[in-house]
Amino acid sequence: MRWGRVALIAIPLLALAALLVLAGRSREADGVSIPLPAPAAGAEGPLPPITPARGENPPLVVIDAGHGGRDPGASSALGGEPESRVTLALAVAMRDALVATGRVRVALTRSDDTYIALEDRYAIARRLGADLFVSVHADIAPANDQARGATVYTLSEVASDREAAALAERENEANRLGPARMSADPNVNLILIDLAQRESMERAAEFARLLHREAEPLVPFRPVWHRFAAFIVLKAPDIPSILFEAGYLSNLQDAADLQSPAGRQRIAEGMRRAIEAHFARRFLTRGG
Ligand SMILES: [Zn+2]
Repeated sequence: MRWGRVALIAIPLLALAALLVLAGRSREADGVSIPLPAPAAGAEGPLPPITPARGENPPLVVIDAGHGGRDPGASSALGGEPESRVTLALAVAMRDALVATGRVRVALTRSDDTYIALEDRYAIARRLGADLFVSVHADIAPANDQARGATVYTLSEVASDREAAALAERENEANRLGPARMSADPNVNLILIDLAQRESMERAAEFARLLHREAEPLVPFRPVWHRFAAFIVLKAPDIPSILFEAGYLSNLQDAADLQSPAGRQRIAEGMRRAIEAHFARRFLTRGG
């Protein structure tokens, strides 16, 4: 009897609490509306600066230059810069293109040659309250120097093909170079995370299509330009995230583009158009 009474009171209270939590949409601009716990420990250092933008409550994009520090990433078979320097120069070019039009705010996970663990990269984006996360990379295909063009990767536990799986394995390797980080918070509600992650993955796939549409006139893409794999860096549950392989350092033409200011500017311009179209579209669908 007593337990029956407790249940009579507790069940409506729990339902009310759940409603309040769901109503208390944790994010305003473009984020996923499911409330999640604060980012796990792991990135507790100082946060990178955010560039200003016009308008009220402009969205925030976090651009992540892949690799850095003790992790140089891929090295060009043709000599020249390691991937970590190419990605930083590309991220800076993307930020500058976005700052010039001033429609979105931008932060970089790194602006110098430092090592950041993969979980810390998206933890930075979560702590800043990012609406979109773009991790920038450049690939190599040692066995095929004809392979060229960009590829957009979004998160999936099941890789879309062997090449995507192998690439995710290579990129995830970076974490072996630093102390292990635990991103899993024991208090986290797994169902909420799963819901948010699925919504983020859908939005990331939408952005991948937009990036191809907007950047394709400026940047060559691979024939299969959207692939899926389990990249650790894309695992922020509540931020749509993509990994952009901007081209191949093992290909003469791509390497020349990736290592020249003019080539990087074209890639940055394609990214800027896609990011601005993404948020323009989201504001429209929200009814202003
Ligand atoms: Zn990489």
